[in-house]
Amino acid sequence: MGEEVIEVNKYYDWWFDNAIEFLGYLLEDKLKIKVNWEEDKISFEKLNDKQIKHLIGEIERLIDYKLKYKKVNKKTQIKESKLRTYLPAIHNGKYVGILKKIKEKDKIFNTKIDFLSKNIKNMKNSKICDVCGNYYTPFDKNINKLTQIVYPSTTTSLKSLCGIRKPQPENTCCIKCAFLGSIEWLDDYPFISVYGTSSNKHCLLFPLLNNLQELHKFKNIMRNPNTGIFEQKEHSNILNSKSTDSYSLLLNIYEKLYEKTKIIRELDKILCDDWVELEIKNGFFYVKNLKIPNLERLKKIFESMFYKYSWFPYSNFIKYTFAKPLKSGNINNDLSNENQYLMSKGILMDDFKTFAKAFQIRKGCIVGFKRDIGNFKDKKDKLNIIMESWRGI
Ligand SMILES: [Zn+2]
Repeated sequence: MGEEVIEVNKYYDWWFDNAIEFLGYLLEDKLKIKVNWEEDKISFEKLNDKQIKHLIGEIERLIDYKLKYKKVNKKTQIKESKLRTYLPAIHNGKYVGILKKIKEKDKIFNTKIDFLSKNIKNMKNSKICDVCGNYYTPFDKNINKLTQIVYPSTTTSLKSLCGIRKPQPENTCCIKCAFLGSIEWLDDYPFISVYGTSSNKHCLLFPLLNNLQELHKFKNIMRNPNTGIFEQKEHSNILNSKSTDSYSLLLNIYEKLYEKTKIIRELDKILCDDWVELEIKNGFFYVKNLKIPNLERLKKIFESMFYKYSWFPYSNFIKYTFAKPLKSGNINNDLSNENQYLMSKGILMDDFKTFAKAFQIRKGCIVGFKRDIGNFKDKKDKLNIIMESWRGI
């Protein structure tokens, strides 16, 4: 390494730490810069002007690729550019506001993105950043306004995680925090699922790994086309996912990872049991911690079911259930989703009571099974196999 090395220290915050990992990945993978990964920081040789330009070019490319998708208008048959609903496009059109502003003010940004070319030190006439607490020189009052875009805020408190939880719009942050906070929206690994297009609810799951090096390993497995489960769609980025709640999404992710990584036998290295759920609803953000209590048991369920029958609880069973009215009537979609949520949550949290609740008669409905559930003659066979693999009964 050369004379000056740039260090980006961990924030001890799920959003910014995922962003640091993403920055390291961009530098390493797209700019071919050597990045040193440590538990609590990444470091790399300071970037020169050409490299900064290259990085900004890459981010600009990602803004277009990530935020928009092409959809054929059925009436006109013309391909139209639409904004992906799970990204901050819903924020009154101010999509990834800060990145757009950065793009417009490319010139200013190029010279001011100084944390990539020199380590920030205390300066005179400077302000203190509301996010990281470091000193910085304000360079543009519009750019450095801390908004929900830079850091998704929440209306609930989250004791297990530190960081600013209720930033007000008048809060300001330094360019480093503004930059990192914004690029995280371009990261492919939060995992995303849609709750239902009509309800305009989206769920994003972030791995919560405290060690930056481990986080990088985990996300790199996801990025590998042989082991990853990524599929960029209009409302989701998980392969074959139609999950309507965060537990079903997570169970689905685990199953797909298990299936893929069985081939390379790296399962033990990658299953992460701590997650942060970011729910976006009508432009507001809600944050929740999801901690899986017994990953070993989950692995045993998968092992026993997948080896014997080549199927999984969510992908081959829960997904095909619905709330069937006992008498005539329409399928209750809300209850169908609720039942799937109860079953997935029950298995993940190792909580049989919650799982069993889905099978109680509620609102005049019982659990029904869609025809394409599989080859088993009796749907109850599958339920029995889940019970046997999970509870040993
Ligand atoms: Zn800062």
